[in-house]
Amino acid sequence: MGQAWVVGDVLKWGGASATIGEDDVDGEMDRLAHACDETLKELDRHAERIEVEFDSALAGIFRAHGQMLRGLFASGEFERELRGSLLTAEAAVRRVLLRWHQKFEALENQTFRQRADDVLDLGRNMIRRLRGEPDTGLKAIPDHSILVVERLLPSDVVTLPKSNVAAVVVETLGQGSHAALLSREKGIPTITEIPGVLSLIDSGTELLVDGFRGTLVIAPKNKTRIDFQERLEKWRATLVHCKAACREPARTLDGQVINVEANIGIHDDVELALDNGADGVGLLRVEQLYFARPIPPTEDELFLELEGLIAPLGDRPVTIRLLDIGGDKPLPYLRLPPTSNPVLGRRGVRLLLDYSQLVRTQIGAILKLSQQHSLRVLIPMVTLEDDIRRMREAFDAMSTERKITNPPEFGAMVETPAAALAIPALLQHVDFFCVGTNDLTQYTLAAGRDDPSVNDYYLDNHESVMRLLNIVVNDAADRPVTLCGELAGREAFLPRLLNMGFRALSVAPSLIPTTKAFIRKLTISAATG
Ligand code: PEP
Ligand code: MG
Repeated sequence: MGQAWVVGDVLKWGGASATIGEDDVDGEMDRLAHACDETLKELDRHAERIEVEFDSALAGIFRAHGQMLRGLFASGEFERELRGSLLTAEAAVRRVLLRWHQKFEALENQTFRQRADDVLDLGRNMIRRLRGEPDTGLKAIPDHSILVVERLLPSDVVTLPKSNVAAVVVETLGQGSHAALLSREKGIPTITEIPGVLSLIDSGTELLVDGFRGTLVIAPKNKTRIDFQERLEKWRATLVHCKAACREPARTLDGQVINVEANIGIHDDVELALDNGADGVGLLRVEQLYFARPIPPTEDELFLELEGLIAPLGDRPVTIRLLDIGGDKPLPYLRLPPTSNPVLGRRGVRLLLDYSQLVRTQIGAILKLSQQHSLRVLIPMVTLEDDIRRMREAFDAMSTERKITNPPEFGAMVETPAAALAIPALLQHVDFFCVGTNDLTQYTLAAGRDDPSVNDYYLDNHESVMRLLNIVVNDAADRPVTLCGELAGREAFLPRLLNMGFRALSVAPSLIPTTKAFIRKLTISAATG
């Protein structure tokens, strides 16, 4: 329950623009020149770091943005717009860049058309700077508000201050998308598929959001509000009941202990995981640390961030997954070359294998941290045996180079049908497996996890996925297998999963108490799907 905080795209939802007088033009030009300088400095800093971690081709995209901005400024177009329209600097930037966006979009040439998005990015960047809000504006959300947005990126969720956000309402969002599952991890109720929602709601309107039913009430009547409040309190009472025993192991009625770990990425998740009795961390998505920064970290920076993140977990084991970007997880500061089908393109380990410094930075930080914390390393999006063999070689070579005698255990994500069906080949290179049903579902059912139009096909409990899971557990032999996709947190399917042989689950921290309570009521030997 809360008041709406509507955040539109600054380029589209600029609101009515204030007019200025002739005398104000010079002042607005100064503001514009300052914002331009600051943006150029930032683009240079990004380019330098990207060049070190990735390569000069990717860094070149930032340099091209810089050239574009210098060119626009030098051409006098901003000044002409200001003098002609007598609107503020923000409005002038919006008009000029939207004009250029249209020009680029109209071009036949593919490469130039791709520049159209860069123009929008530049425009957003400049407008935020002029408004004095260097980030997306989401951080400024007032306490206990409900965020209302058109789209939600994983990087947006990472920077959302959890304590302030009562819920999120998104116009469109795929049910398996990373942004959706990251907000679930933070315990923020999130609903979607409400066409034109931004035009229906003004900031300040009272909203009721039901994350279980996927419903939204705008400006509720008194009776509706009271009913809602009653249901909310009932839910909170159930939670308090489950939480009482959440720190105890989850033991089935027939005595099997099931490890219930947490999927985490940022500090808020760690607090929640500890509070909810996580037995460890089954999946630390390192990309969240990358999302939360303006540029990629150095090894020392990553070490310090990871150390700060996992220190509160004490002696609980932590599985750190190397950067899994590409596909539906874009890094805002990394413009990878466009590809016709990103989810089937270079993502996860495929990208890691192309950028050796990126891998060295992460493995270096993890090896150092492994000397003070019990860690495991996990490789994302494995398809071929060669993927995991080459990563293992890089990992072993660095462990030897750094004279680490007790390196962390090394594992592979099983999230493509190819990996699930080739466990015997992958087995020899790993110490453990972690099954990611979110991607496994997308690739098995040929339904994009972030594409709302195929939500009906994105079924993580489909028989085809279940059969693959069965094969993985059977073929993994003595290698431990953790189930870390969203399916692991869906109670209705737990009896079948435990019956198959899964003994370790990793779920959103908010789901741990109820998952443990549910397991305690099961008898595995009698469990059926
Ligand atoms: C998965 O694919 O199930 C998984 C756990 O990884 P991610 O959701 O980060 O892609
Ligand atoms: Mg995945």
